[in-house]
Amino acid sequence: MQRIVLVAVLMFATPLYAGEIEPFGIVIHGGAGTISRDAMTPEREQAYHAALRDALVAGSAILESGGTSLDAVVEAVRRLEDAPLFNAGRGAVFTSEGTNELDAAIMDGATLNAGAIAAVTRIRNPILLARMVMERSPHVMMIGSGAESFAAEQGMSFVDPSWFHTDERRRQLERAIEAQRRGAADQLPREFAYGTVGAVALDKHGNLAAATSTGGMTNKRWGRVGDVPIIGAGTYADNATAAISATGHGEYFIRSVVAHEIAARMRLQGKDLETAADEVVMGVLVERGGDGGIIAIDREGNITMPFNSAGMYRGYLRGGEDIYTGIFR
Ligand code: ASP
Repeated sequence: MQRIVLVAVLMFATPLYAGEIEPFGIVIHGGAGTISRDAMTPEREQAYHAALRDALVAGSAILESGGTSLDAVVEAVRRLEDAPLFNAGRGAVFTSEGTNELDAAIMDGATLNAGAIAAVTRIRNPILLARMVMERSPHVMMIGSGAESFAAEQGMSFVDPSWFHTDERRRQLERAIEAQRRGAADQLPREFAYGTVGAVALDKHGNLAAATSTGGMTNKRWGRVGDVPIIGAGTYADNATAAISATGHGEYFIRSVVAHEIAARMRLQGKDLETAADEVVMGVLVERGGDGGIIAIDREGNITMPFNSAGMYRGYLRGGEDIYTGIFR
């Protein structure tokens, strides 16, 4: 009897130890500038959770069927770009000139290849163009009309800039300009600022990828570029450490090279993902006054989502586990 039990246990346990069941998972964010709890209605809250779930399920389906982490993060970010709730693609914040200038980046943890675009105004899904820069050009970063001319050569279709407009973001710009006039710009609610979207994933082949996309910050000067398309600041992936995507006050994230700083602490100091991410987001950034957060996943499928703001739209779906989405602390 005992022998039968032992054989049965071995039969079921072996694949785990033989490494046949590979971990996989995807983590996303929709920005650290959450609406305050008081301003959040149940309907709105539901809409955010639904949009996050939609992106997670789509990305996870790709991973589940053996697809790549690159494909998964692109699909999740593309969906969040199309959702007007978030500050990326449709629903992007306005510059002080009343325009939308979009930044995006992607990085492949297996090859350390990366692609980024900044200040494009007519590309519906900036993340798709960032990927084209990575895969079809010898460059890492392209900006403005140069990036759009490359997009046209690649056969990408364009949208009218009004595609990105939403009334809510227009009202936020008006309030931001008014607050600036009164010298009270720093008292604006955080949802005016950070609504970037991002995704990081680990696929069944053990490869990591990160993707981030944003409209930047409300009332930014035209031509301003934030951390999102700066490889190592808002976006980074390396199979040796982790895939990381950030959201928050970009200038602080650039100066602290946040995403790479987390990876560097893992690689050089042997820290685990959670410790390294906490040190940077809850330590370094807080000391320097930088609001925001990050999402990250490592090669073992460990996930972390620290933020030093009141909330961060976020979620993850790991192979074999229940889906999680969250907004506030
Ligand atoms: N990090 C973005 C930027 O500074 C803003 C955001 O996260 O929403 O452009």
